[in-house]
Amino acid sequence: MQTLFRKTVKETIRLKGIGLHSGKTVRLNIHPAESGHGLKFNHSQPTHSTIIPVHVDYVIDTGNAVTLGKDQVKIQTIEHLMAALHTLGITDALIDIDSTEVPIMDGSSLPFLEAIQSTGWIESKTILEPIQITNPIWVVEGDKYLVLLPSDELKVTYSIDFNHPLLRGQSFTTNLDQKTVLEDILPARTFGFLKDVEQLQSKGLALGGSLDNAVVLTEDGYLNDSLRYENECVRHKVLDLIGDLAVLGRPFTGHLIASKAGHGLDISLARCILEQEKANEMKNFRQNKNFSQKSNQQKQA
Ligand SMILES: [Zn+2]
Repeated sequence: MQTLFRKTVKETIRLKGIGLHSGKTVRLNIHPAESGHGLKFNHSQPTHSTIIPVHVDYVIDTGNAVTLGKDQVKIQTIEHLMAALHTLGITDALIDIDSTEVPIMDGSSLPFLEAIQSTGWIESKTILEPIQITNPIWVVEGDKYLVLLPSDELKVTYSIDFNHPLLRGQSFTTNLDQKTVLEDILPARTFGFLKDVEQLQSKGLALGGSLDNAVVLTEDGYLNDSLRYENECVRHKVLDLIGDLAVLGRPFTGHLIASKAGHGLDISLARCILEQEKANEMKNFRQNKNFSQKSNQQKQA
């Protein structure tokens, strides 16, 4: 992997959209931050504000989206914004938000991506160390699984299998180099089944959901006039995986193999990746200690 440096946005990016669940307008401003700050949300209210770091330790829910939480405040549906920031290598920014959910925009990462690209970024001189994947890692839940194998490249093989004529056994393999992710993954929109949308809306959820921000599946087809890719749904699952693993805060290489996975397994994998890294650090620390003890003994002898 080439040497990567920490980056922030060049100037404040102002975005506005609707919340998928609330259906209400959300304002989101991405401010530049100093190197080492990390990505953090600032949930601003008239009387007080709460800062929530974008880190796996702050993930409190993975139901329909990834939700961060701290001090009774939550920020949901962070993954499409995170996929855009992570792919462009933005490591440091303060994200002001006046709602508890990131706006859904067009259901993909494209509006976030275009906004960040048009503003630009500043690269610091601080090296961003990648996480080394040394051993296979896997998480399993019933017939769903997510595996990460060590590799010098980042690539993915993703399979979905829904009880729907168009989504049975859809599978997609690709390298996840930056160009491919920008062109082939980040524009893929989220998707939902019409019957689920109707059910959610009857419970006061998904009130902002529409054909403007999702691919909607009917009993045997799509409600939308056209798709961005013939296999847009599986590509969106890859987008979610990239956005979910951005809670690691650092890049890594490896071969991701996913079958019917989702936010829950993605976040479990992120936790396992950090556990492996901690174990490796401990092992290296012990080896270095033994080595320095041995060389001291040799010097004394
Ligand atoms: Zn998504």
